[in-house]
Amino acid sequence: MCPNCGHILSFFDMMPILSWGLLCGKCRYCGAKISARYPLVEVLGGIFAVLSLRFYGISIYTILAFALCSVLTCVAFIDHDTMTIPDGLIVAVLILGAVAVFVDDAPWYEHLIGFFMISVFMLVLSLAIPQAFGGGDIKLMAACGLFLGWKNVIFAFFVAILIGGIFAAFKVLRKEKGKKDLISFGPFLCMGVVTAMFVGKIALVYYLSLLGI
Ligand SMILES: [Zn+2]
Repeated sequence: MCPNCGHILSFFDMMPILSWGLLCGKCRYCGAKISARYPLVEVLGGIFAVLSLRFYGISIYTILAFALCSVLTCVAFIDHDTMTIPDGLIVAVLILGAVAVFVDDAPWYEHLIGFFMISVFMLVLSLAIPQAFGGGDIKLMAACGLFLGWKNVIFAFFVAILIGGIFAAFKVLRKEKGKKDLISFGPFLCMGVVTAMFVGKIALVYYLSLLGI
């Protein structure tokens, strides 16, 4: 239904991406603006479905990969809006990770180490520097580490720091000095995890070949 007028939407109002464009981003019944977030999430869903199939073919891992992307999309937007990550979504990632342990080629202990790898590092860091990371971020990276395994979760964290760092630098440059506000790190962690899931293994093989290993 439309969150503004409560009108029950028809099939034609809910065609992914198309309806938003055809309706020019406005509710057909009350004319209220429909957030561009709807088509954006729909586009992301499509991209993730194609990438999952492209990288993992027709397999159980493909379903897991797509499901993880979908959950992380919710995590990223909710964390961006509220600066919190709901525990329910972290549990969802944890369940996907537990299934991934059995489906993935890597041995189970690599996933188990992955659970602690970045999460413990973040925990220690946030004990040393208060507010370095939120509790939700740490729990999220534990669950994602179980899914990815320890090598890939390091790559995910590296990508998150890189993108987050660039974003933070731009934010600082644009704002006057002295004004300090927190940015939620969750969306960057999600970007890192999704990147690692698709290209982490390829990137690692490439990097090791550069080192001659
Ligand atoms: Zn409406």
